[in-house]
Amino acid sequence: MRNLIIALALVVSGTLAAAQQYDVVVEGGRIIDPETGLDAVRNVGIREGKIASVSVAPLSGRRVIHADGLVVAPGFIDLHQHAQDLASQRLKAFDGVTTALEMEIGAPDVTQFLKAKEGRSLIHYGTTASHVAARSLIFGAPLPEGTILPKSGAATDQAATPEQIQRIQQRLRDEIDAGALGIGMGIEYTPGATRLEVIDMFRVAAERKLPVYTHMRSAGRVEPGSAIASVEEVIGAAAITGASLHIVHINSTCLRDSLECISLIEGARARGLDVTTEAYPYIAGMTAINSAVFNPGWREKLGIDYGSLVIPDTGEHLTKDRFDELHNSGKQQWVLIFANTQEVVDAVIPDPLIMIASDGAEGHPRNAGTYSRVLAQYVREKKTLTLIEALRKMTLMPAQMLERSTPAAHRKGRLQEGADADVVIFDPQNIADRSTFEKPMEPSVGVQYLLVGGTVLIDDGKMVPNVFPGRPVPGPRKAVTTTNR
Ligand SMILES: [Zn+2]
Repeated sequence: MRNLIIALALVVSGTLAAAQQYDVVVEGGRIIDPETGLDAVRNVGIREGKIASVSVAPLSGRRVIHADGLVVAPGFIDLHQHAQDLASQRLKAFDGVTTALEMEIGAPDVTQFLKAKEGRSLIHYGTTASHVAARSLIFGAPLPEGTILPKSGAATDQAATPEQIQRIQQRLRDEIDAGALGIGMGIEYTPGATRLEVIDMFRVAAERKLPVYTHMRSAGRVEPGSAIASVEEVIGAAAITGASLHIVHINSTCLRDSLECISLIEGARARGLDVTTEAYPYIAGMTAINSAVFNPGWREKLGIDYGSLVIPDTGEHLTKDRFDELHNSGKQQWVLIFANTQEVVDAVIPDPLIMIASDGAEGHPRNAGTYSRVLAQYVREKKTLTLIEALRKMTLMPAQMLERSTPAAHRKGRLQEGADADVVIFDPQNIADRSTFEKPMEPSVGVQYLLVGGTVLIDDGKMVPNVFPGRPVPGPRKAVTTTNR
């Protein structure tokens, strides 16, 4: 009897100790970690924002999430998210995203961007330094509050003087010192930037050992200025300077030549260059209609006419008159651009070099549905991607790109002991996008739980109110060198 009591006491005290061991335990889910290839039922113990245990043995915690039948994966990392307001962050969360970064163009003012989000962000955030904004500033036409793209004009279309190029470079260095994760270049939005100006911006990135994220100079097949030439330009700049390069939305820039463009990147990588790319699973793009993308020649370049441009809120297809009015307006209006085909998108998404990134902004369904759509359409329906490969494109690959900017990214995109507890728990049978071109703000379904830095943000399919677990990635990075080129 005495032995039994001692044994019971040991069991009880052991259980109590275990009960206090973890803040959150995710129990019985199918754990998928693309880096190690783990795909098995495990229990996950989370403590102080980190994954402390991935275990076959039962774990106890103050909060237990039962994940039977659900997939437990690293939270998705979106390298390309423009809309950074709470309404869009909420959509990203329901799409499985725990980190959403403005890397393509970059916030116009890094200090302001980071300050505005401190303590008020649902998911992790960060930005590149914006070449487009720096150029506008130096040309004396700073971007209007709340915008990231300039109206087509002198600041976008004229070549910069050598002195102006130096001032743009200095602005980018200051923005990097303020905490930028690299340099964002929307070359198509600044067609006045010469090849040399582009190379000079890559030189700043190389000097700070940071990557360049770029929306390339041009789309389509018309020469000079084809998508192929645009890929050559930035790969050339990367080769010349040594900066790492990430080419955004290869699908919407290269269109029918997307697979050719991917093969160029493959070739550059085979020659030892650090070049990566991404795509989103939609046939339309979206941008500001008064931007330089719509300077004369766009119809020939994109192979479309006015009617392929659609106003998101109203569904209005444009005519020449309506286009002229909006293109010449100072007011920034987003427009959907139907220039791609489903065949191209379906061929691009499964390609092993493609990571998934949304290019999210209000008005386009990609803002809400990108990740769930890939899981629903390519993994479940078309079966052109395995689940673990799809997750690799959403977690490990973007984390590895982010490692060029910050060692903190080694702890992201992984479901391993020591990793940040950014975790998505979803139903693989049900996960799906609901957003459409008509209703772009419909949240995805299927994400049952989402943990951001160990904090439960989505709980049993519902958003937890008044928690803001989002943190900056990686936090301000100070100058590491002041050498000139
Ligand atoms: Zn773009």
